[in-house]
Amino acid sequence: MATATQEETLGFQTEVKQLLHLMIHSLYSNREIFLRELISNAADACDKLRYEALDNDALYENDSELRVEIEVDAKANSVTLRDNGIGMNRDEVIKNLGTIARSGTAEFLQQLSGEQQKDAKLIGQFGVGFYSAFIVADEVTVRTRRADDSSEAGVEWRSKGEGEFTIAEIERPARGTEIVLHLKDDAKEFADEFRLKSLVRKYSDHIEVPVRMPKVETAKDDDGKEIEGSEVTTWETVNEATALWVRPKSDLSDDDYKAFYKHVAHDFSDPLTWSHNKVEGKLEYTSLLYVPGRAPFDLYERDGARGVKLYVQRVFIMDDAEQFLPLYLRFIKGVVDTKDLSLNVSRELLQQDPQVEKMKSALTKRSLDMLKKLAKDEEAYQTFWNTFGSVLKEGPAEDYANRDKIAGLLRFATTHNDSATQDQSLAAYVERMQEGQQKIYYIVADSFKAAQHSPHLEIFRKKGIEVLLLSDRIDEWLMSHLTEFDGKAFVDVAKGDLDLGEIEGEEEKKAQEETAKAKEDLLQRVKEALGDEVQEVKVTHRLTDSPACVVLPENEMGFQMRRIMEAAGQPLPEVKPILELNPDHALVSRLEGAEGEAFGDLARILLDQAIIAEGGHLDDPAAYVKRLNALLTA
Ligand code: ADP
Ligand code: MG
Repeated sequence: MATATQEETLGFQTEVKQLLHLMIHSLYSNREIFLRELISNAADACDKLRYEALDNDALYENDSELRVEIEVDAKANSVTLRDNGIGMNRDEVIKNLGTIARSGTAEFLQQLSGEQQKDAKLIGQFGVGFYSAFIVADEVTVRTRRADDSSEAGVEWRSKGEGEFTIAEIERPARGTEIVLHLKDDAKEFADEFRLKSLVRKYSDHIEVPVRMPKVETAKDDDGKEIEGSEVTTWETVNEATALWVRPKSDLSDDDYKAFYKHVAHDFSDPLTWSHNKVEGKLEYTSLLYVPGRAPFDLYERDGARGVKLYVQRVFIMDDAEQFLPLYLRFIKGVVDTKDLSLNVSRELLQQDPQVEKMKSALTKRSLDMLKKLAKDEEAYQTFWNTFGSVLKEGPAEDYANRDKIAGLLRFATTHNDSATQDQSLAAYVERMQEGQQKIYYIVADSFKAAQHSPHLEIFRKKGIEVLLLSDRIDEWLMSHLTEFDGKAFVDVAKGDLDLGEIEGEEEKKAQEETAKAKEDLLQRVKEALGDEVQEVKVTHRLTDSPACVVLPENEMGFQMRRIMEAAGQPLPEVKPILELNPDHALVSRLEGAEGEAFGDLARILLDQAIIAEGGHLDDPAAYVKRLNALLTA
């Protein structure tokens, strides 16, 4: 029996304390997941040992049959989980079972509110892991030894989950980890073999490592009576114990796929969809890719976890192999198992391997096809889009070759239903295009409302032409990488000359030209009054209700992108807008009749208003207010 020496008491990192507290309270109705988490860790530990043993067979210590064992002691009210995986040394125990190493944890925990339902969802996003043991246990003891250490280097970790843990050296001949859960009074139901077996099947069938539980067999005499004292205990493998992705699709149920997802993705909500494929030929690999139902908290962090779990011929090689998918598909989770890489492949080697590049391109197509299929279920796709849409929008810039496919997957808010929800596809837009309309029109603004109410849309609303309403930070960047869809060019309605093509009749165009001529004098005067504040002054045919708007030349960076770049401290060359005036507006008529200073002030007011309507900032807002007030009180 192990004897503990040099016991030391240490405090949990603050975040761990917070997490423990919240987990115990918010996951109360979902307590059984502790078993899944602990088995998942044991299986990972076996995977890691097998990987390290590839070039150091001695690590097996003559025991290469990797396994997880679960035992119940009903009298002691405890459950023990044991694995002969890689184990941990003292430093690893302190780091892994005393802190939360992932970056962003503190920020994540701040989002938690103490409201059970909401927090349960957020915690699911985070992946609960080892600490979930405390949902059912009032004391947890971990005994472990790393595979390359001697038996004196065992470690015992013990905690009641209340802020601190003790750690001690122990003698531990067996490598790997043993976790003893002393069950809380209200969790005694888990000290039941039958219950545990069914949970193992439910959550861990897909794990390749066998999960074994003891089975007591009693010999029977000739009359079929049990012979007293003849009990022998054998170990029975409870789970299926074959890697799920190796099994034929026809053998697998949706529940199997979902359970496996939770293991690979460290997520405890269901995935939205998945795609399981075996490829044979020049490249040989099996992939199982999932679209999660919710975003991980580090989706937008530069060093956030991404990529697939990589196996080579069923041997686990690494987590988060990011070389198999492009950045804009970083939300995809899953497994790739291949015969085409060597077992000692490293991250550096993956980067240079042409086979990996080919697999990446195939897996990218698979992922896009999977999304296309998902789109047939509008509700599920909307969930996907709301969660990951702005990541997918990075696609056209990153992956030029697939930009048409990606364009088909995009969803937009549009003037069609004037809803802020991005729920319209480009295909639907094209279907609704007017007779004679050749272009796809869009506007980019800082907010949905600013886009929706932009003066630039007046003519489009009047003519019933749909416009995409873009307001995500990435939208202008996105549109600068999309040139056409289905043969139709994209046109920013706030840039360049507005040409509605065949939608406008010849007569309309003629009338516009005539008005422009008739107003030449006014335009000249306004240009003189505003000087180099504006590039040009024109008569508009975009506006019906507003007096004026500002427009940028066709090839200029748009207003939204300018503001983002300026906010990021990027100096940009100044660009002067074109001011367009609505000759039918009362204020423009008034301008025409004004003289001297009054003319200059009114012209200024019209320009400033147009800039404000665009979401822009005035250099001298106080001067604008003063001029406006003077006008109002005149
Ligand atoms: P995760 O599995 O997402 O990394 P966990 O909280 O489940 O997070 O586990 C934290 C870490 O503790 C693991 O990454 C692993 O390094 C270590 N660990 C947990 N259980 C075991 C085990 N049975 N054997 C070896 N290491 C383990
Ligand atoms: Mg884990």
